[in-house]
Amino acid sequence: MLAPQITPTDTGVRFVIGRTPLTDEFAGLSKAFGSKIAGDGVSLLLGAMRFRTPPKQAAEQLAPDVTLPDIGDYVRWAMILPPNGSLQDLTPQDAVLSRMHGWHPQLRALIEQADPDNSTLLSIRVVEPRERWASGPVTLLGDAIHATSPTGGNGANTALRDADLLRRCLIEANEGRRDLGGAVDDYERQMFEYGAEAVRSSLEKLPAFAPEAKLP
Ligand SMILES: Cc1cc2nc3c(=O)[nH]c(=O)nc-3n(C[C@H](O)[C@H](O)[C@H](O)COP(=O)(O)OP(=O)(O)OC[C@H]3O[C@@H](n4cnc5c(N)ncnc54)[C@H](O)[C@@H]3O)c2cc1C
Repeated sequence: MLAPQITPTDTGVRFVIGRTPLTDEFAGLSKAFGSKIAGDGVSLLLGAMRFRTPPKQAAEQLAPDVTLPDIGDYVRWAMILPPNGSLQDLTPQDAVLSRMHGWHPQLRALIEQADPDNSTLLSIRVVEPRERWASGPVTLLGDAIHATSPTGGNGANTALRDADLLRRCLIEANEGRRDLGGAVDDYERQMFEYGAEAVRSSLEKLPAFAPEAKLP
């Protein structure tokens, strides 16, 4: 193992994410790119996914060897649940509905009509890059070395930043402008710095959604 000392930390906070077909009934709920509805110590996040071209059709036109699911527009919803809640034996939808007593019937209907195959309950765990290992022919990028809390909305972006930086370092080595070991070392040095910052920044935003969260 490259970095046995770097292990995931469970914040205790749980995250339910799901999606519901975007029918006329729900079209007005999430007109903007995303919205947040707060109440009873939890927040419901909504975002409408309106495809310009449905994914299956887009794949047929642009990349026929790729198969994408035949799905239509949907509302993506997510709720961050505080630690220590009893969620045992609850489906993801029931876990959310259990925190929505007295909420508007349309919001409850959105969760009730969710697609159960695309609704899931996750633990928010983070991985903070701390101690460097001796650089060599194997390295890490993305969530494998800096997993953020979803409250940062920055996990995928940081993984892409890694890929771009590592790509540039390797091209320089391939073109003889530096040695390979130095290129990987340079990538890891920079990645550790902004990767740790990405995790910290995502955790700083967690209490706004889950005030009782124990931050690592
Ligand atoms: C619910 C949710 C919402 C999120 N929302 C956002 C957001 O809004 N904005 C944002 O920036 N980030 C978001 N993220 C984070 C983002 O998805 C991750 O940070 C990003 O996908 C990390 O990319 P990665 O390539 O490091 O890992 P992954 O995308 O996890 O890719 C790793 C791949 O490796 C494969 N794999 C694993 N083990 C093996 C094996 N042994 N052999 C072969 N293959 C293997 C996996 O199947 C997977 O395809 C979200 C994450 C979740 C879970």
